[in-house]
Amino acid sequence: MSDFAIRNIVIVGGGTAGWMAAAALAAWQRDLPLEITLVESDEIGTVGVGEATIPPLIAFNQMLGLNEDEFVAATQGSFKLGIEFVGWGAIGERYFHPFGSHGADFNGVPFHQFYLREAKRRQLPDIREWSMSAVAAELGRFARPGPDARLPLSQLVYAFHFDAGLYARFLRGKAEARGVTRIEGKIVDAALDGETGNVESVTLADGRVLEGDLIIDCSGFRGLLIEDKLGAGYEDWSRWLMCDRAAAVPCKLPGPPDPFTRSTAHPSAWQWRIPLQHRMGNGLVYSSAYLERAEAETLLLSNLEGEPLADPRHLSFTAGRRRLAWSANVVSLGLASGFIEPLESTSIHLVQSGINKLLALFPDRRFNPVERDLYNRQMQEVFEDVRDFIILHYKATRRDDSDFWNYCRTMEVPDSLATKLELWRSKGRLFRDGQELFGPASWVAVLLGQGIVPEDQDPAVGAVDANVAAETLDKMHASYRRMAEHMPTHGDFIAQACAAAPVAPA
Ligand SMILES: Cc1cc2nc3c(=O)[nH]c(=O)nc-3n(C[C@H](O)[C@H](O)[C@H](O)COP(=O)(O)OP(=O)(O)OC[C@H]3O[C@@H](n4cnc5c(N)ncnc54)[C@H](O)[C@@H]3O)c2cc1C
Repeated sequence: MSDFAIRNIVIVGGGTAGWMAAAALAAWQRDLPLEITLVESDEIGTVGVGEATIPPLIAFNQMLGLNEDEFVAATQGSFKLGIEFVGWGAIGERYFHPFGSHGADFNGVPFHQFYLREAKRRQLPDIREWSMSAVAAELGRFARPGPDARLPLSQLVYAFHFDAGLYARFLRGKAEARGVTRIEGKIVDAALDGETGNVESVTLADGRVLEGDLIIDCSGFRGLLIEDKLGAGYEDWSRWLMCDRAAAVPCKLPGPPDPFTRSTAHPSAWQWRIPLQHRMGNGLVYSSAYLERAEAETLLLSNLEGEPLADPRHLSFTAGRRRLAWSANVVSLGLASGFIEPLESTSIHLVQSGINKLLALFPDRRFNPVERDLYNRQMQEVFEDVRDFIILHYKATRRDDSDFWNYCRTMEVPDSLATKLELWRSKGRLFRDGQELFGPASWVAVLLGQGIVPEDQDPAVGAVDANVAAETLDKMHASYRRMAEHMPTHGDFIAQACAAAPVAPA
């Protein structure tokens, strides 16, 4: 091991981000003599409302060597096949953004091009009918994807809903078992090295001092070290993402949990509905410029499907990202590195993405700026790509029933998104650039779902005879439905594989 190797890491914060970082570093270090300490403050608490995830989390769990059924049971989890959007394109409309692809490409030409051509020749069902995940979700079914690539089940892609507090607790158990030390206490100060500008140590309220070669700032929105101490800066995106408030409340489940998240648009807000095993998570995301806190609370509570299980919890945020996610020897993760509203359940993924990149560029005590700059550039790209996809949902609407929607529909969007929209409108073309998380199938789901149909098709579609393509489309359609009808219900699957312990009534 080099003389410059990192020997100790201090993780500041024990929310989802802190414990994900601790568990991942502990699993990754193997035989390295790395000392990992996590400090968290019960007095400050955590945000703890991140409950819906996206498919890459499966790879994160595998990296930690987690047993998936054990993980789902321990977190009161359920399976998620996508998101149903209600009232986004126009009042009364709904569509589904599934995980995975639609159909299969023909001769290298994307499936949606054939779908769109055929939709001009005859009335076709919604494109969701060509997604294994969407059809299973519609029927309330779930099964893990099979290995046989010839069967449509191999195209089923899933993620999870879970109780964020239980997830952090579960990861804490795994991290502590691998040697991570947890300290309860409030950090009140940090010392900087006058020469390097690195954070040398943090001081707790009881006077204890913790030294770290590398500091991971998972302290939440405030960014205790990355912002308060190092002034890394924050890029504010609220001109495109107006929502800056949320109110969250759990309620009783009205029935077996659906295998999907639902997002319902209201006149100046949208509401999430996330079914877990023991309760339904709900929340309203809104803009304080258009809705008062009390109105938001009333709106949220009047749209619950079951009896509320707690008082609503209110949160404030500013959409944006930390300009330097990594500054000096401090790497920020989670809310400390930025926030994009949970419309596509991306925050926990952004933590995972930051951890993966940090491990790929793991520094030594010389902190080579090339590694840091690359990390910052990559995180900027990931954040901006997610930002554009979220803005799309607001921009691509025909709603004109409130000042909120009128603003969103007519606002200028970032050039990167404007280019994508123009490529789509002209010939239905979509490309995945660089680090982009959401691939063409996701964009197709939202664009068509919100009523933006291309004027023309890619001429490449002409390479396949329309009648041949139509026959293949029909066969695919039937095969997804047949497959879904043979799957267990989501409730039965959970009961057999990963049922959580019952929760005692409050
Ligand atoms: C309304 C809302 C809905 C969300 N929904 C989703 C979702 O569906 N899916 C998703 O992926 N993500 C979602 N998220 C995001 C998700 O909740 C967070 O990304 C995730 O929980 C990470 O939070 P965190 O660990 O960064 O911060 P926090 O949970 O705020 O944790 C901060 C930690 O730092 C500690 N701390 C702070 N200051 C000090 C100090 N001075 N001394 C010691 N310790 C300190 C705190 O005690 C705490 O342990 C949502 C977020 C919000 C706001």
